Amino acid sequence: MKVFYTLKTKNTLEGCDIKKKLMEILACPIDKHHPLELLIFEEKEEIVEGLIICPECSRWYPIRDEIPEMLPDELRKEGEDLPFLKKWKERIPEKILLEGKPFNLKAM
Ligand SMILES: [Zn+2]
Repeated sequence: MKVFYTLKTKNTLEGCDIKKKLMEILACPIDKHHPLELLIFEEKEEIVEGLIICPECSRWYPIRDEIPEMLPDELRKEGEDLPFLKKWKERIPEKILLEGKPFNLKAM
């Protein structure tokens, strides 16, 4: 009985901390850097919209509709990602806005 109780407690604790768990798992798909930085823009029970940043290569990955999109450069779509960067630019570090990869707002 004691073992069961311990397991149950552990699961509950993990359930409360999905974000931390997510950031423990995720690594940059380009250089495998870990850990990554997380910005949360909109949050309900899960992160609805946010940004994952790789401090190693300045790449950023959007979280849209609760889904972290960790795609390599060749699968990224500028037409979808730049509007996302613009939408949240007030809350994104300048370094990412100007030097972020694969797209940034410097040329605008
Ligand atoms: Zn990286």
